[in-house]
Amino acid sequence: MNYLDKMNRKRIIINGQDRTGWDAEDGTTAQIALIKTLIRWIGKSDKERVLTTNKKASSKLDLSQELDWLIMEIREKGLCLESILSTRKLLIVVDMQEDFVRGALGSPAAEKIVPKVKDKIDECSMDDIIFLRDTHGEDYLETQEGKLLPVMHCIKGTAGHKIISELDTKGYDIFDKPTFGYADLKYELITRYDAGYFYDEIELCGLCTDICIVSNALILKAAFPETTITVDASCCAGTSEERHKAALLTMKSCQVNIM
Ligand SMILES: [Zn+2]
Repeated sequence: MNYLDKMNRKRIIINGQDRTGWDAEDGTTAQIALIKTLIRWIGKSDKERVLTTNKKASSKLDLSQELDWLIMEIREKGLCLESILSTRKLLIVVDMQEDFVRGALGSPAAEKIVPKVKDKIDECSMDDIIFLRDTHGEDYLETQEGKLLPVMHCIKGTAGHKIISELDTKGYDIFDKPTFGYADLKYELITRYDAGYFYDEIELCGLCTDICIVSNALILKAAFPETTITVDASCCAGTSEERHKAALLTMKSCQVNIM
């Protein structure tokens, strides 16, 4: 069963050069999901095309034609269409914001991972990327987190709340979370699943290993026990080296794949 089967919940065969049995009545969302995947694999330079395609998404005929062109391009590049469609990978970039890198709660360890996280995003080896942002209001010091950590940070609308400019967020979803773990992540991914996105592996990177990375990794592990949850240790930094290592060990105990 490949991605197309799962997407349309019926058999669609891709045989040699031909795509047969495509039924355009099967929802535009699913077609867009497939187009996005193919464009990601063809290359970063085609990112703009995703947006153009989305804009004219009202015409099912255009989308079918776009799919034909993409499948042809994939084959011309010598990529295997079947293997592209059978696995999908989601990257979640956690709290790579000014205040955690160079601002109120910044650290040299956080600055050190920036080029690696940037490379990971630019490589485009993922099918999709989600960015999470730690987000507080002016009343931060009155909150439980603020009382225990009385350092104003990631206040919505401030420069410190922004994702660092080195990272290219264009075309990707950004979600604001009011605390360490993003509780709605489960519902967001279930919605995508229903729309035709199936993630075999979810990888996390960003800040901080011992707070927001561990919180979100365990939320995902609880919500999707059959999905491989991976944390790239070289693209994370903790509030200290000791706590970074301790958090990795805790996640490993919970069967999170540490790379
Ligand atoms: Zn915070």
